[in-house]
Amino acid sequence: MKTLHAAEVRGTAIRRSVATLLNRMEKLASRSDRLFSAHLEFTDPRGVTTTLPRFLFTGPGDRSSFLRVGIFAGVHGDEESGVLAALDLIQELHANPAPALGYELFIYPVCNPWGFSRNARWLKSGADLNREFWRGSSEIEVLMLEGQLMRLAFDGIIALHTDDTSEGIYGFAKGHQLTRYVLEPALEAASRHLPRNFDRSIDNFQANMGIIEQGYTGILGAPPTQKPRPFEIVFETPHAASLEAQIKAHTAAMSIMLERFRGLISEAQNI
Ligand SMILES: [Zn+2]
Repeated sequence: MKTLHAAEVRGTAIRRSVATLLNRMEKLASRSDRLFSAHLEFTDPRGVTTTLPRFLFTGPGDRSSFLRVGIFAGVHGDEESGVLAALDLIQELHANPAPALGYELFIYPVCNPWGFSRNARWLKSGADLNREFWRGSSEIEVLMLEGQLMRLAFDGIIALHTDDTSEGIYGFAKGHQLTRYVLEPALEAASRHLPRNFDRSIDNFQANMGIIEQGYTGILGAPPTQKPRPFEIVFETPHAASLEAQIKAHTAAMSIMLERFRGLISEAQNI
């Protein structure tokens, strides 16, 4: 008898439509001069097409000096709050673009559409998308996202996740050495909605006030060759907390990150 993968067992119960999820955004984009729906498509030799949702939001300001930030959610298909928070952020910015001053934001709300539609963490192959980057993976989602990360050379990267082993919010500060100065106020702002995890060890990594400066290999991030290193943050909310509080924590954190990136990235560029 075939042994079912855990994702397959869980995946049979729920089917969520990515198209339905994005419907509201598509409508908004169709009548916006700042928000663009620009999904990525890849067709394999058998003719099977994989679509990776992507939205582009251009903030006010001088386009020639825009900072480029990538926001990635739904890398794990069973982590819904980041997906909804990324969409909420788009909607908020569409209503009030001021916080996006000087930015072009590339938002990938559902990086693992197969997993999202089945409420499963994994890719269809059973692999963990967040362990496959920059190690020669042939997973379609990895190839598409690596292509974006290479081509767009983001100044800042934000990845939204949830953790079912943590009772509080925390984050990974990676890339540029000043990244922790973006993450710290973001955790502070998000702690209005959910408690911070102050454990000295989180997810088996040494942590300081909810900030981890190591991390797994193979996670979604800038190409190893990119110089200077961009600001890279992985923000985690506790999976067991209410969905609404998690979404608020994610959006509060992202707002502060955008505020802080602006000053620190230009400062870093001048060093
Ligand atoms: Zn995750």
